[in-house]
Amino acid sequence: MAYLSLKDVNKIYPNGFHAVHNFNLDIEQGEFIVFVGPSGCGKSTTLRMIAGLENISKGDFFINGKRANEIGPREREVAMVFQSYALYPHMSVYDNMAFGLSLQGVDEDVIEKRVSETARILGLTDYLDRKPRALSGGQRQRVAVGRAIIRKVGIFLMDEPLSNLDAKQRVTMRSEITDIHRKVGATTIYVTHDQTEAMTMADRIVVMKDGYIQQVGSPYELYFKPVNMFVAGFIGEPPMNFITSEVKDGKVQIGKAELALEKILDKENYDNGKSLVVGYRPEAIVLGAKENSVVVKAIVELTELLGDNTNVYVDIDGVKSILKVDPHDTPEMDTEVEFSIPYDSIYLFDKETENVIENKLRQL
Ligand code: ATP
Repeated sequence: MAYLSLKDVNKIYPNGFHAVHNFNLDIEQGEFIVFVGPSGCGKSTTLRMIAGLENISKGDFFINGKRANEIGPREREVAMVFQSYALYPHMSVYDNMAFGLSLQGVDEDVIEKRVSETARILGLTDYLDRKPRALSGGQRQRVAVGRAIIRKVGIFLMDEPLSNLDAKQRVTMRSEITDIHRKVGATTIYVTHDQTEAMTMADRIVVMKDGYIQQVGSPYELYFKPVNMFVAGFIGEPPMNFITSEVKDGKVQIGKAELALEKILDKENYDNGKSLVVGYRPEAIVLGAKENSVVVKAIVELTELLGDNTNVYVDIDGVKSILKVDPHDTPEMDTEVEFSIPYDSIYLFDKETENVIENKLRQL
């Protein structure tokens, strides 16, 4: 059995709200797992059930093969880092980190060794005498992380730990946390609504929506092989473009351009009139007319130069799309642009179920 195992875990709050439905997940020792999804999808609730801060309404949770539903938070050997750092304002960085160990009655010299080792890992050695108010947001967050790792527990739970930081600090802390994970090796579950954090930090991502798992996979799998429109639209920035079209004579339309379904599907005999959604990523297109592609014409409505690329907002016969192009190729606004979507980067979804229909050209 995996190190952590959730079997058909459900959360029904006392007011009757069913926040998490049949959550199934096995986590190996040392993995970095990210729960991602929009606000209210049940990420924190699931994390809190793992921490023992919420009871599990239905289903089973195992730590190291042992059923843990009724084990209290202290005995679970988990450390949690919250969005609000929850540092003690009147204590120095040293005391904030040492406090938990002192309460456990750990010897002073052991505490000192652990604090200095943790401070070294986190780059806090020069700040040990300071009070939290004399630290930047990023440094405070590092102290909060330090307080968790100093306990040397096997399971590390983090709930949106970077959301109080500015954009630049978030990027720095992102790589620091992955670095700490590499050094410490604790099994980590990290909650965020930010797909970039999920993509850059996770070994595996769990995408959630409305209390249900949508997909579990590596960042690579989720980006290239999303199972449905929700995952396809959630992972990637700007999000995947979608265009709905009815099947006619084995073809769908992208504006005036036609895509013969047999090019990318094994079973091309979709009924006339069936509604499909064509998906393509902004970064998958190539300007101009290319081979093995659908060649589309669109009107440029707006361009946004971002430095390393330009986002081009276009109108394809009344449907909006975003294209990512090299800044040197930025087209003029209000002109027509021609671009190609390679067959192997086209996604098709069933409009009704929103599930992906496998593109036979796409390999992982
Ligand atoms: P966020 O990113 O906004 O924190 P989340 O994905 O972590 O969202 P949860 O906090 O797990 O979401 O909440 C999931 C759902 O459960 C939400 O609809 C929330 O309103 C509801 N919920 C949370 N706590 C309770 C509670 N104590 N009683 C009833 N419903 C609750």
